[in-house]
Amino acid sequence: MTPTDLRGPTRFRAFGPRHIDTIADRHGLPDAVRETVRRISLVLPFRVNSYVLEQLIDWDRIPDDPMFQLTFPQPGMLTEEDERRLAKLSADPADRPLLREAVGEIRAGLNPHPSGQRQLNVPSRDGTELPGLQHKYRETVLYFPGQGQTCHAYCTYCFRWAQFVGDADLRFAAPDPAGLLDHLAAHPEVHDVLVTGGDPMVMTTERLRSHLEPLLEVESVRTIRIGTKSVAYWPQRFVSDQDADDVLRLFERIVASGRQLAVMAHYSHPRELETDVARRALARIRATGAVVYCQAPLIAHVNDDARTWGELWRAQLAAGAVPYYLFVERDTGPHDYFKVPLAKAADIFRAAYRTLPGLARTVRGPVMSATPGKVAVDGVEESPRGRFFQLRLLQARDPSLVGRPFRARYSATAAWLDELEACPETPADLAAAVFGQGTSRAAETPGSAERTTQR
Ligand code: SF4
Repeated sequence: MTPTDLRGPTRFRAFGPRHIDTIADRHGLPDAVRETVRRISLVLPFRVNSYVLEQLIDWDRIPDDPMFQLTFPQPGMLTEEDERRLAKLSADPADRPLLREAVGEIRAGLNPHPSGQRQLNVPSRDGTELPGLQHKYRETVLYFPGQGQTCHAYCTYCFRWAQFVGDADLRFAAPDPAGLLDHLAAHPEVHDVLVTGGDPMVMTTERLRSHLEPLLEVESVRTIRIGTKSVAYWPQRFVSDQDADDVLRLFERIVASGRQLAVMAHYSHPRELETDVARRALARIRATGAVVYCQAPLIAHVNDDARTWGELWRAQLAAGAVPYYLFVERDTGPHDYFKVPLAKAADIFRAAYRTLPGLARTVRGPVMSATPGKVAVDGVEESPRGRFFQLRLLQARDPSLVGRPFRARYSATAAWLDELEACPETPADLAAAVFGQGTSRAAETPGSAERTTQR
């Protein structure tokens, strides 16, 4: 790519598994890649678009290119046994029912709803669950508008992959804001609504307005956040789409109502900020008075090195956005392929953070968004008693736990909270909330602590 051809297409066109031959012919993909995409997309979602294909992927660098890894299913995302099973069953049309069964079993084994989303976060009214809502933290409600439950392209590591595979049981979606408004009326302590998906910015402006404007009538709502990767996958949404200007007017209206409007932008790699259209999109959003906060997970094969994060955060700062979170990849979907051990994640974060100017040191991480809350890995402590992770809850179901430091035994391989072992001196309330157990057992048997299900 050269700087002059970076504006990209203006007509959105999505491509899925049935277009793999067209994509492969156009970009010279080997047969093995086509087969991998076909097989893995039976289980996990696959979607790209014309901008991702033409402007973001560097076809000279595949399969290692980070944007290719970010959007195309890869060998190793499923176990070899599962891949063999899918290959065998998809070879014979007579095996269709067995194939469907196998796909369902494989999906169920991929922890489709991590962090207790389904069991713990969905609020109810008079004993009936409110669809498309999650209420985990006292002051924040997550809202999943039904028409915003796709994305302009799908990330291979998506922690909400279950939303996209067509299984109604795995989906969060509200048909309209009525349930949200009821819930807000009953919970005036909620000041912050995070509109999320999928990607709410796949909706037309008119549709988006029908979900957002009613919130402006709720006095207790002071902040509206919109979680989106459109700024990376389809920045034309804010620049050249037919209703791009209308969406900016809607943002202005929200800001003029006195609410804080935060666009929670998901950038996985600095390349997503290199195109003219991506930078213009950010500038236009910021001109409405919205503040852009940036967050993404640390992902093997995509962005697991300090140089990439340092570049990404500096590019965000230069574009007037706020570096906010570096997340740990959640334990769902193809986690084994994309996970980065916590020890390595802490090293990468620190090495990148050291290179930042002060104003970019707004970023926090690595952070696990787990069942009890957001757990930050602040560092590794060496002491005569051994090595420990220093941890802290940045956010918690129980607000009294927020900000209190605690430790877990160091592990070079642990990649999620349920692989950590509590330290003996962890206060009982923290140990119970974070590790789901008392600490005595962990203290007596280091290295063999009972594994909990903090998913
Ligand atoms: S943008 Fe977010 S919700 Fe959409 S595929 Fe990527 S990680 Fe998943």
